[in-house]
Amino acid sequence: MIGISSLFSLPEGLEVEGIELQGNLLAVAIVSVLPFSCCPLCSQASSQVHSGYRRTLRDVPCAGRRVVLHLSVRKFFCRNPECARKIFTERLPTLVEPWAQVTRRLFEAVQAVGFATSGELGTRLADRLGIHSSPTTMLRRMMALSSPSSCQVSLLGIDDWSFRRGRKFGTLLVDLATHSVLDLLPDRNAESAAAWMREHPEIKVVSRDRGGEYASAAVAGAPQAIQCADRFHMLKNLGEVLEGLLARHLATKRRKNIQETLEEHIPIEPASRSLRRSPKVERLQQAYREERLARYEQVVALRKLGMSQAAIAKRVGIGQSTVGNWLAAGAYVSRLDPYLPYLFQRWESGCHNMVRLHQELVARGYKGSYASVRDHLVRRLPEGKKNSAKGNELSPAPQSPRQATFLFLRRPEKLTPEEQADLLTLRQIHPEVERTYDLVQQFAQMLRTRTGEQLDAWLARVVDSQIPDLQSFTLGIERDKPAVVAGLTLPHSNGVVEGKVNKLKLIKRMGYGRAGFPLLRQRVLHAL
Ligand SMILES: [Zn+2]
Repeated sequence: MIGISSLFSLPEGLEVEGIELQGNLLAVAIVSVLPFSCCPLCSQASSQVHSGYRRTLRDVPCAGRRVVLHLSVRKFFCRNPECARKIFTERLPTLVEPWAQVTRRLFEAVQAVGFATSGELGTRLADRLGIHSSPTTMLRRMMALSSPSSCQVSLLGIDDWSFRRGRKFGTLLVDLATHSVLDLLPDRNAESAAAWMREHPEIKVVSRDRGGEYASAAVAGAPQAIQCADRFHMLKNLGEVLEGLLARHLATKRRKNIQETLEEHIPIEPASRSLRRSPKVERLQQAYREERLARYEQVVALRKLGMSQAAIAKRVGIGQSTVGNWLAAGAYVSRLDPYLPYLFQRWESGCHNMVRLHQELVARGYKGSYASVRDHLVRRLPEGKKNSAKGNELSPAPQSPRQATFLFLRRPEKLTPEEQADLLTLRQIHPEVERTYDLVQQFAQMLRTRTGEQLDAWLARVVDSQIPDLQSFTLGIERDKPAVVAGLTLPHSNGVVEGKVNKLKLIKRMGYGRAGFPLLRQRVLHAL
């Protein structure tokens, strides 16, 4: 059986004198038995007791009961004649701070709960753990923790974060070597960031977004450092440009879409069309059918008059090859018709990969779109399977420019079969889109393989491409070229910083509102 004193972890020189149960409260009387104490001013030991008094300290709970320590503390005379202090109170630094009303371990427990939660939530959790605390106390405890001492940083990652719903921004500084948060600044001005960098002449690389405030900050605050345009931001900028371009093409495509779909479906097996269409679409479709039939009859009539195919094409307003096809087939036909036997044979033999089937047709000379092949096959699917092939239905699959941008930027081998099909449809919208895809993938490849030496060749290809959106992107690159080359070559990435920004958002959402930025900074520095 161990003594009751050993239940309470106390520093050497303190002993339990008695324990009393008051309701649910354990009141523990503690005395100091050290023969002497040292003066806090001159450090000289003294054993001459002047007087004694009692301190009451709240302590961490013990086996379901709250604990209060009644600590008998002594005052000593300082015997050093040179010392200004005549009387001093004995110090028990491992147990309690000089003027505190709680033990050090209780203080730290509240602090830990505070950092792990937020002021409000933490108070409730602490209460469940038998620790009484108010939000104000918890915040005070958290703010009391000193900032990590200024450490050495050679690879600095810097980025902004949204402070208040995108209206106010701060700056997050991360050590890219250790992945630790270095500091949080309440704004994103070049001056503040530069001032921070000036305190760290050891910085060798500053990884930041493209151009802007942090570039100026690095010039002013860390002129010795290499600036590195962050790959994450480069890709983001490219994505923004790309989204604009794709939005334009998708809009054009959408305007033509119903028309194209209807035209391509009119001549083939009209009886088996089982797709549900609104009456409005039905009427439109009927109109197209009649219009197309009229054109066909006109072609045949003109041919009977002995006109050339070129002349007929001009007169009717359709392509000369279409005239040729219609006349050869004795009916109006789609470009897919000659390939249908092959297509169905492959389909029946079990190949249901539409992208691959399209590729096979192209290898056999098919010049039509992937969408036609896909639509044709989807219409042949039994009802049940049609739903599962929903992603492949009649409209071009990437619905939004954002989705389309995602497909363009992603590594092709990481796309699912459905996404590959969508991408293929998308690329065939327009030759400019196809050229854009190639250039975007080349840039992404440079980013992945750190082949910054290929940048000039890529820039030249963009100039040749005559695609205005991409050319505006390259203008930005030209302005910031040394940093871009560094970003394409060096291994660092602000991906770490982005990760921290996301966690910061989480902390922010958990409600630090009461104490504002200083508390947020504390929590980010001590919890990330
Ligand atoms: Zn002294």
